[in-house]
Amino acid sequence: MSDNCIFCKIVRGEIPARIVHQDEDCVVFHDINPSAPVHLLAIPRHHVVSMQDITAEDGVWLGRMMSNIPKIALDNGCNPGPEGGFRIVANSGNDGGQEVLHLHFHIIGGTRPWKGPLVAAV
Ligand code: 5GP
Ligand code: ZN
Repeated sequence: MSDNCIFCKIVRGEIPARIVHQDEDCVVFHDINPSAPVHLLAIPRHHVVSMQDITAEDGVWLGRMMSNIPKIALDNGCNPGPEGGFRIVANSGNDGGQEVLHLHFHIIGGTRPWKGPLVAAV
């Protein structure tokens, strides 16, 4: 945990978020400034800055977390099947355009067009 990290504060319940899923590894909530009809953020419960800090030792919890994303995406409005789908984005470091320094996976979907700032920048 990091005292001043806004995503750690969401994990601790110190600032509000529209949480849609939580388990032992992760918390998933709506992005405050959505780029598409569905825009969720999936974060690990513990403080990790970015994908730049991930090593093979993180494979088990990270694998569990990623394997839950398709169901969470469908349960929260992403369209099923090959005509639907979603985008997963993990901005990492300055060059990756990361603003919040706690690892997060954007889960972006819903019927196009998508007009938000993140989508435009990708
Ligand atoms: P990044 O640019 O770091 O990949 O994305 C950070 C994301 O976090 C942005 O899409 C932004 O809208 C979202 N965000 C920033 N602060 C908050 C907050 O306090 N609550 C929620 N729900 N989302 C936030
Ligand atoms: Zn944090």
